[in-house]
Amino acid sequence: MVSYRWLVWVGIVVIGSCVVPSGEQPPLMPQSDLSTLPPCVDDDCNCGDFRDQALAQAVLEAFPEDPFVLDQDDNGIACESLPPVSSGLDPAVPLSNSPHLALGNPSNAGTGNLNNYLIERSQYALAYNRDRGTANWASWVLSADWLGDTDRQDNFRQDGGLPAGVYQVTPNDYRSTGYDRGHIVPSGDRTRSVQDNSATFLMTNILPQAPENNRGIWRELEEYSRDQVYQFDKQLYIMAGGYGEQTTLANSRVTVPSRLWKIIVVLDPGETVDDIDLGTPLIVVDMPNQDTNSPDWRTYQTTVDRLELATGYDFLSQVPLAFQDILESAPYEVP
Ligand code: MN
Ligand code: MN
Repeated sequence: MVSYRWLVWVGIVVIGSCVVPSGEQPPLMPQSDLSTLPPCVDDDCNCGDFRDQALAQAVLEAFPEDPFVLDQDDNGIACESLPPVSSGLDPAVPLSNSPHLALGNPSNAGTGNLNNYLIERSQYALAYNRDRGTANWASWVLSADWLGDTDRQDNFRQDGGLPAGVYQVTPNDYRSTGYDRGHIVPSGDRTRSVQDNSATFLMTNILPQAPENNRGIWRELEEYSRDQVYQFDKQLYIMAGGYGEQTTLANSRVTVPSRLWKIIVVLDPGETVDDIDLGTPLIVVDMPNQDTNSPDWRTYQTTVDRLELATGYDFLSQVPLAFQDILESAPYEVP
């Protein structure tokens, strides 16, 4: 009897571990090509990750058994509370001559839409979103010219450069929320002068970031980027931002993005956007804004095409057309 019971227990454990391997996600069996789905399917999608219901529905239909639980009421429709379809890009704007926008203006940010409001500074460019209380994205060049020995200024403050009537998020809006004031353009990327470093502490360049993410994996990617400049004398074009919603802060004045992304184009000094070709390293990551991420940012590499699907933006529009489509669709594995 004893050995029989033992065999039954062994059987349960063996069968159980086949169904759901312990410590791993349930097996995912997408019926569509992953390259046509947003990056969250690589780790864990939530309804807040999708810009519209149509995209959530595409994910639901690609995975039998609804592993991400997008259809809680089991009626075949994912994430009913999302808008049916998202509005398209804002109309095209004249191309800026800012060096920080050399790759393009991915959301056609300008001055007509307060949720896609272009702020150009000598240190970076960003598209601010009034309703979210954060930038949609920021874009900046990182080269040896920008790096010096200026101390971190730590002067988080409201951005008085916003148009009149737009609420200016304050450092206090993040206090006791459990989220870090996460830089989009890192303080460490602007150390040439006090003025440059201070520009990164304006609250328009800050988003609410899970502390372990900010101080761990995200910081490591920032340091990897600066190492490309310090050690290999590279010049980088970088864009980063957040999308989706996991919660809000400060009486809904600040939306906490559910996903964080970054694009890094690695060039040699003196090269311009016109020198980008199929040999140009292109690092693209999209990760959950959570404390529980994998410790290696390489885990979250994706393609520009999939990031465009998730965000609705058009990245790399100024990259030579001969290479743009191929670079955007090809996964680049960081060595
Ligand atoms: Mn940070
Ligand atoms: Mn594009």
